[in-house]
Amino acid sequence: MVTSEYERRIAARFATFDQDGNGYIDREDFSGAAKALLAEFGTAARSDRGQALYIGAEAFWQGMAGIADRDGDQRITREEFVNGAVKRLRDTPERFAEIARPFLHAALAVAGGGDGGVGVEDTTRVLTVLGVDEDLARSAAAALDTDGDGRVDEEEIVRAFARYFTVPE
Ligand code: CA
Ligand code: CA
Ligand code: CA
Repeated sequence: MVTSEYERRIAARFATFDQDGNGYIDREDFSGAAKALLAEFGTAARSDRGQALYIGAEAFWQGMAGIADRDGDQRITREEFVNGAVKRLRDTPERFAEIARPFLHAALAVAGGGDGGVGVEDTTRVLTVLGVDEDLARSAAAALDTDGDGRVDEEEIVRAFARYFTVPE
């Protein structure tokens, strides 16, 4: 089978969302990511930060489902992802950024960042928990700090997120 660079990129994006690797994206992938982040940073689910992260994860899931779950079965298949999410995200990356923002905001708070953002080391931990290979996570975390102040702040991570999922054909 010939796989184009485009298809490879789409497959990688799908895998990023399909955190448990069962072949579709659903609510469990988002709540699972929240749970893993809380465990990594020793934050209780019942704390304010923990609750904010779960609420952000649920909002992120609802936003994704609204874009991509065409048959309404609460699962996004790869086909729905390609035909729904990827096309819509490419057309309106800023809308996607807003869907992701509450989760990303809460994730930065869990990782210890106030308004000044999170250090590159803790950002690497976040990415690794979310399934990014450790070497790649390290370089990605450094790249996220676009203004080079040694911290990854909300705008930097929201913009990078939108960029990552905006896959050119
Ligand atoms: Ca899944
Ligand atoms: Ca579906
Ligand atoms: Ca920065």
